[in-house]
Amino acid sequence: MEYPGYTEHVFVSEVHQNRRGFEEEEKMDVRNCKGCSRLFNYIGGQPLCPECAKALDLKFDEVRDYVYDHPRAGMQEVAEENDVTIAQIKRWIREERLAFSEDAQVGLECEGCGKMIRTGRFCETCKAKYINDFSSYIKPREEPKMTSIKGQGPQMRFLDRK
Ligand SMILES: [Zn+2]
Ligand SMILES: [Zn+2]
Repeated sequence: MEYPGYTEHVFVSEVHQNRRGFEEEEKMDVRNCKGCSRLFNYIGGQPLCPECAKALDLKFDEVRDYVYDHPRAGMQEVAEENDVTIAQIKRWIREERLAFSEDAQVGLECEGCGKMIRTGRFCETCKAKYINDFSSYIKPREEPKMTSIKGQGPQMRFLDRK
């Protein structure tokens, strides 16, 4: 009539199959590199192949040196002189690798309260708040907004993280 052992066996083999399929899917997270359009195995972060990621690191060194040598350079100028997009510069600011200089009249908006900040994603108040209440930290990341005064663009400086 019934074959409990057989049923169990079928169930187990299905699970194995699903797991194998899932693992294959994970391995096949192949995307087009945003830099060179080549296919590569995506592992997270920016959609860049290892070579383009390395090139971007070198580009950052270039931009960092430029900002260091031209402390009053605006974001537009830095972008043009170094052949890098403003979006990329903003990303570095959000990553706290670049920051606006102290006397700059501009900044990024804190993603928590909208207050002007010079680097990163949150102001000090929100950072402290989110550390205390970790669950509210998990919110969708929005595109950083940039405000700028007329004439001279935002000035930047390099953040020495060491
Ligand atoms: Zn690439
Ligand atoms: Zn805030």
